This record gives sequence, structure tokens and C-alpha cells, in this order.
Amino acid sequence: MSTSPAQPELVETLAQIVGDAHLYIGADRVAPFVTDWTRRFGGPCLAVVRPGGAGEIAEILRACAAAGVPVLPQGGNTGLVGGSVPAASGQQPPVIISLLRLTGLGAVDDLAGQVTVGAGATLGEVQRHAVAAGWRYGVDLAARDSATIGGTVATNAGGIHVIAHGMTRAQVVGIEVVLADGSVISHLSGMLKDNTGYDLAGLFCGSEGTLGIITAVRLKLHRPLGRTTVTLVGTASYADALALMSRAGVAAESSAPGSRLLAAEVIDAPSMDLVCAVADLNWPLAQRWPVVVLLEVVDGGDGSGLPLDETADAVVAFDAADQARLWAYRERQADAYGAAGIVHKLDVSAPLPKLAACADELMVLIGTLPDVTTFGIFGHLADGNMHVEIVGPAAADLRADLAVLECVASYGGSISAEHGVGRAKAADLHLCRSATEIAAMRAIKGALDPQGLMNPGVLFI
Ligand SMILES: Cc1cc2nc3c(=O)[nH]c(=O)nc-3n(C[C@H](O)[C@H](O)[C@H](O)COP(=O)(O)OP(=O)(O)OC[C@H]3O[C@@H](n4cnc5c(N)ncnc54)[C@H](O)[C@@H]3O)c2cc1C
Repeated sequence: MSTSPAQPELVETLAQIVGDAHLYIGADRVAPFVTDWTRRFGGPCLAVVRPGGAGEIAEILRACAAAGVPVLPQGGNTGLVGGSVPAASGQQPPVIISLLRLTGLGAVDDLAGQVTVGAGATLGEVQRHAVAAGWRYGVDLAARDSATIGGTVATNAGGIHVIAHGMTRAQVVGIEVVLADGSVISHLSGMLKDNTGYDLAGLFCGSEGTLGIITAVRLKLHRPLGRTTVTLVGTASYADALALMSRAGVAAESSAPGSRLLAAEVIDAPSMDLVCAVADLNWPLAQRWPVVVLLEVVDGGDGSGLPLDETADAVVAFDAADQARLWAYRERQADAYGAAGIVHKLDVSAPLPKLAACADELMVLIGTLPDVTTFGIFGHLADGNMHVEIVGPAAADLRADLAVLECVASYGGSISAEHGVGRAKAADLHLCRSATEIAAMRAIKGALDPQGLMNPGVLFI
């Protein structure tokens, strides 16, 4: 995948805006930006630019608009639906605007419990910045040291603490965005009470680079948690896993003041086997169970952990090192499947009362599909969020993807729980959004990006 030789005048203008050191052309220089984390998506770009701030981004967007060249905002390039890289073919190669130089971390506002950060700061940097000031940021996910705040806002990322704090949208109290015409929206005051019209910050959450370029975000922070315990429990089925989670939530909340579930994750047996083989881990439980549940509980300070049935096959971790050891079975899943081949990653959700039936049907269904060699489910149980991973079919073979998405839609679920629609699912949006909803979304897109130059091919086909 290389740059297009077209548009030399635009490239010259871009070099003047960002400086030669921050403009990349040529296959070797652009390589890390044009193929995604899954190795399934990617295509040519005109150039990669690394602007230093909103002013330069505004100039870049004006230049690209004048030349009629599309733009693609990119953060850490950890997105999993092909939205962070150019299309393989059929589209004009875009200018990739990397946000990785916008790493500013503002002072934490101790009264409001808020902070303003640059879009290119990584999630991990923001987490550590909040902790150093006596607070914590409510979003966490395994790609924390590469994913940027701008990317997590643009995808409305979920992660492992949604049960406690909600998704990224719930953390965003202000935003700065450069629009397609180079104008800038800057609404970073973070007022909790501000009913002055449309919630524009909320609109940009989950917009996947199709409406504008996020340059800074004002985030809500949370008080430190105190002590937590992590428990891995074996269960016979998804139905049992859900019942266990429900009992654990009630038990945690009634055991001590402040105690509650912080995370409830699920890993099925094929996914456990895979991560054990790839990451050289042992099965952590006495028996090999069909469905393993990971529960993290804020223990309210009494250190008692999760009240469990005496017969449960469980392992409990109280200190940080042991907890990280248990979390590894869940956090290393994406890498484990990646080691097995090109993964068709289907991030879906089902209503909790239907999740067990949906998961069971998916496993039977995938087992009947052609060319599938490895498959399994792990995910965020409390959110009804299943990461269905399928290895075997060629990258461009969409039969397995469609079968999974149609199955989930038949249960009233969502074809994208937290990764977004990207290019991967743009053709399938109608499975869980009505024609009226899609028309309304297109109208918003048309109003903010009349030339259709902001990340075309993402979200809509
Ligand atoms: C190992 C692993 C684990 C993961 N776990 C989770 C998880 O638990 N939950 C979850 O939700 N996701 C998860 N993800 C997916 C990914 O980390 C998230 O989607 C993340 O939010 C992407 O951030 P990024 O900076 O890498 O964005 P990118 O991949 O660079 O971009 C993603 C999308 O956002 C747009 N975008 C990026 N920055 C901006 C900006 N500043 N302005 C406008 N648009 C922008 C891009 O155009 C693209 O459409 C995981 C990924 C990996 C590799």
C-alpha cells in the first residue's frame, strides 16, 4: 500500500502547513498508518500529516476541501472495524491526519473533578494523569497504551468498566472539534448544567471521524475506588454465568457500604484454550468449564471479596499482581486470536434476557460455516457485549460476518456494541437502525460535511 502520486500541489501546501518533518509520503513512511491493527483493512493514502494543533488542522481541512480530497482522522490506529485506515480500493486516497502530536494534559480541576486533554493523549496517559491528581478516569480497555482519547471519543469506546461508569460518552463534558470547512467548535467549559440547545459533544461521540476532527476533550473524572477483588469462576453455560453475575451484583451491594461490581467479563472455553496455548498460561480453575466469568468487585473496604457458593470452582485475587494474572486470561484474548490468523472480529450485543440463547445459537451457527478453523466468544458480560472471533475465512469473505450479524439482529441486538461501524459493518447498518434513523444520520452528515470528505465509506456506504 503506497501513496498516490496525484495532487502534488496539495501535498506541497500540506508541507507548508505542518512542516516537512511532519508530512509523510512514500510507502515506508506511511506503512504504520495505512494498515489497521487486525491486518484485515487498509489501502493507499495521498499523505500522512501530523499537525501540532487545531489551527493547523483547520488549515489542512480548508486546503483539502479546496482540492476536493478526502481526509481521515487517525489516533492510535487500534480501531477494529477498518475506520482508521483508507479503503482498499474504489475511493480517492485520503490525507491521513494523525492526531498523535496533540498530547496536552491540562491541570485537573479538583473542584469539578474534570480535566481537559488533547485528542492525541493515550488513554493510559490520561488514566495516570488523573491518578496522580487523586482521581481516576472511568474508561479502561486493553489497548490503553496505544488508543487515544480522540479515538475513544470518536468510537464511543466501552471497555471493562461500563457497568460502573458508562461508556465514553458518559465521561465527555466538553469538546473541541475542527469541522470539514475549517471552522472550530470549542465548548470546553465542562458545565454540568448547560441546556443551551443540541448536545454537540455527545454528537461527536461515536461519529468515527465522519463529522469533524476532535482536537481536545473535557472529561469527567471519578473518585478513587479503594480496594477491589478479582474472582474467576467456572460456569456450565451462559445462562448460569448471567445468573451468577446477577447474584454477585446483589451480594456485593448488600455486603458493605460502597461495595459493587466494577467489571463482569466472560470467556468461553475455546477462547480460554486459545489464550492458554498462545500466552503459555495454565487453566486457572480445577475443572475445564464451558464459560468462565471474571468478576471485579469494589469490596467496600472490608477485604472480604465476593460472597460465593462454597462449591464454586473459583480463584480469588486480592493483590494487584494476582489480579493482573487473572485479568490476563481476558485481556490477552485479542492477541491470542490475532496469533491464530486474520480474525473476523464481530463486536455485538444482545439484550441480557436473550444473551444466553443468542450466544448458544451463534456457537452452533459458526460451527456450520465454511472455512472456519477457530472461533469463540469473550466479552463484557454485564453489557450484553460479545466479541465473536472467527478465524479461517479469507479477509474479504463476508459470509461468516453477515451470518453472525443477522443472528444478533434477530434477537433485537446491536451489530456494533462498542467498536463502531467503520467500513466493516457500513453495509449492515440497516440490520439494527431503521431507514428513518439512517436518513436522520445522513442529514446530520450532509449538514456538517456537505462535500462528503470526512472519512468517506465509514458508517455509511
Ligand atoms: C487489544 C485491543 C482491545 C480493545 N478493547 C476495546 C474495548 O474493550 N472496548 C472498546 O470500545 N474498544 C476496544 N478496542 C478498540 C479500540 O481500541 C477503540 O476503538 C479505540 O477507541 C480506538 O482509539 P484509537 O485512538 O486507536 O482510534 P483509531 O483506531 O485511530 O480510530 C478509530 C476511529 O476514530 C476516528 N478518530 C480517531 N481519532 C479521531 C479524532 N481525534 N477525531 C475524529 N475522529 C477520530 C478514526 O477516523 C476511526 O474512524 C480494542 C482494540 C484493541 C487493539
